[in-house]
Amino acid sequence: MTGHYLGVDLGSTTAKAAVVDGRGDLVATSVVQMGAVSRQGMQKAIDLALAEAGIAEGDVSGTVSTGYGRKLVPGTHRMFTEITCHARGTAAMCPGVRLVVDIGGQDSKAIVVDESGLVDDFAMNDRCASGTGRFYEVLARALECDIETLGGLALRGSPDLEVSGMCATFAETEIVSMLAQGLPTPDIAASVHRAIAGRTLALVAQVGRRAPVVMTGGVAQNPAAVRFLARALGLEVQVPAHPQITGAYGAALLALESSGRTTPPAPPGHDADTDVQLFPHAHSGAGHSCAGCDGTAGGAVHLGASIAVRRG
Ligand code: ADP
Repeated sequence: MTGHYLGVDLGSTTAKAAVVDGRGDLVATSVVQMGAVSRQGMQKAIDLALAEAGIAEGDVSGTVSTGYGRKLVPGTHRMFTEITCHARGTAAMCPGVRLVVDIGGQDSKAIVVDESGLVDDFAMNDRCASGTGRFYEVLARALECDIETLGGLALRGSPDLEVSGMCATFAETEIVSMLAQGLPTPDIAASVHRAIAGRTLALVAQVGRRAPVVMTGGVAQNPAAVRFLARALGLEVQVPAHPQITGAYGAALLALESSGRTTPPAPPGHDADTDVQLFPHAHSGAGHSCAGCDGTAGGAVHLGASIAVRRG
């Protein structure tokens, strides 16, 4: 297969693009911080990735979009859910991965990947900021540090303070109250990271712990989030070189793989991987919202909405 293939992941806080060549090698990536689902940010991410690849939009042989804003990506040939794209991209970056923990701006996912790199099962929290990038941002703001330095601060602290609330709405109040008691900032940072990791552990428990584990998403750039997740799981946690663009990379690979396919694309506005005829092992779970949550570290997480699980 010749040409170039574009993957676009329009997430809740960032737009990501990746270009692969006809062999599936990653040739360009971009991440644009832009605020919620911005068309401008998406176009900038596409333009940056194409410029880095040295090609024009007309040279792209196929485009797949994913992420919250996937329906907004112009010229897309197919859409896939983030679950499929993160699994595909992570399996390509870290061959042999069996569990992907992806933590983005507004959701967290635990995805079980089979020997072939295909989705076997998944659980997702997309209704509660607890355990997501948003929660780390609340913590950074309360501690008056940047999101980029938050992890380093937490790694210098002792994680033994009791953190009772894990609801982002109330967390800021609890953190401010700890600061008012004169507790050391690094200890607060470390203790909240430990509590968040406990929340992610509960998500992983929905699908079952297994190794090797790879953490992806913007939060995987926080070394303390990785360290405390590893500690909670009792497993080593790998982080790929570009953890934030695994979804876009997976989308680009799916664009390449779909390019020679004779099967008709999904109807407009539908995800190709939720076509249960194509991927018969559908898996769905019950929903959960704030209404039934007590806001504690042990609060419930819910399984994702219906998505087909592709088998080899
Ligand atoms: P989405 O796909 O939902 O837009 P991302 O996977 O891009 O989300 O992750 C965004 C989150 O990643 C932010 O909310 C922030 O908490 C975190 N993040 C981004 N950059 C960094 C960084 N350099 N260090 C630590 N955390 C980061």
